[in-house]
Amino acid sequence: MHSTPRIPGHRFLHSPGPTRVPDDVLHAMSRQPMDLADPRVANLIAACESGLKRLLQTERADVFFYSANGHGGWEAVIANLVGPGVKVLVPGTGHFSDGWAEQVEAFGGVALRTPCTEGRPIDADAVEAVLREDRAHEIAAVFAVHTDTASSVTSDLRAIRAAIDAAGHRALFVVDVVASLGAAPFAMDSLGVDVAMGASQKGLMLPPGLAFVAAKGRALQAARANPAPRFYWDWARRKSDLQYRKFCGTPPLAHLAGLEAALALIEREGLPQVHARHARLANAVHAAVDHWGAAGGVALLCPEPAARSVSVTAVRVASDIDPEALRTVAREHFQVAIAGGLGPYAGRVFRIGHLGDMNEAMILGALAGVEAAMTLQRVPHRSGGVEAAIAALVGAVS
Ligand SMILES: *Cc1c(COP(=O)(O)O)cnc(C)c1O
Repeated sequence: MHSTPRIPGHRFLHSPGPTRVPDDVLHAMSRQPMDLADPRVANLIAACESGLKRLLQTERADVFFYSANGHGGWEAVIANLVGPGVKVLVPGTGHFSDGWAEQVEAFGGVALRTPCTEGRPIDADAVEAVLREDRAHEIAAVFAVHTDTASSVTSDLRAIRAAIDAAGHRALFVVDVVASLGAAPFAMDSLGVDVAMGASQKGLMLPPGLAFVAAKGRALQAARANPAPRFYWDWARRKSDLQYRKFCGTPPLAHLAGLEAALALIEREGLPQVHARHARLANAVHAAVDHWGAAGGVALLCPEPAARSVSVTAVRVASDIDPEALRTVAREHFQVAIAGGLGPYAGRVFRIGHLGDMNEAMILGALAGVEAAMTLQRVPHRSGGVEAAIAALVGAVS
């Protein structure tokens, strides 16, 4: 007979997505579906729309929800804004800017890219230079990834907005906040962002399966002027008070109930407090990795403290170390699930997720599990990374 051994206690999930789902959200998602004419459905949708707009800090955007993952959110943006031959500038952040650019090309769009230096944020000067060159204003939009989850680098969106303005370019500013929303500060209106897209399973603390796009006036106009065929993703079709139109069919009620609960948790804690907590926990992780790194086996991938993500930390390993074996040991022996390297980082980094429903004790537990796994795997590291993290957390209190 097949049986899986029981693992007592918590298993620590430190992937940068999917992330841990808080109990309030799990309970909200386990409710029975409702008759679609039930006024509670309309209230639920309205709460999700208004709550998400508060989180995005926008008053002017319309919000569209899709039963989809982050790639579905990307597709929604592309299907509405990128007709065949339309040019988009995708500033290089690494794995995720490459992925979005490829998807643009699959739709017949032209994706221009700026170079990406490993471990570095978007080069705003390069963005400005490309836009200045484009005297005919053929570039319809700049598609910027706020936090590239593969490199754990967060780019300065204000600098990109300033680059677009300095070039005097009218390209739409479109931002992927999949890995940053609910963790790092983001204010759609004051940043002059025309479109923001995201997904449920990272800072929003839901299971995977819900994507959203928030789009403002100029972007909605551009979508209306785009003749490319589309149906499910179409903003104009979804801009309706009828639920059935808003969702192009039955709303994903469980995910919406979870989102309502998650947004309430964020509001109860307070958005500035949520951001400060993420910064504090990220700082503790950086302190531990820096401490470990003195022995040469591991190092932070992102050298620039200001560009380090508060959501996830990519740790580079020496060339003779297999991060996948380390992950397996951390997960199977110490109950700490960390993430591996994506794309160009495969086999060269592991990543510690620290976003969403996360606190000090959880981070210390995760770091202890990683340190134990490094010890077992004989990964060279200076022991005492957990103490370094404790010192960082204590320093943040006193
Ligand atoms: C996770 C992620 C995506 C893709 O989301 P999926 O749900 O895996 O399709 C896109 N962009 C960023 C920045 C991400 O972190």
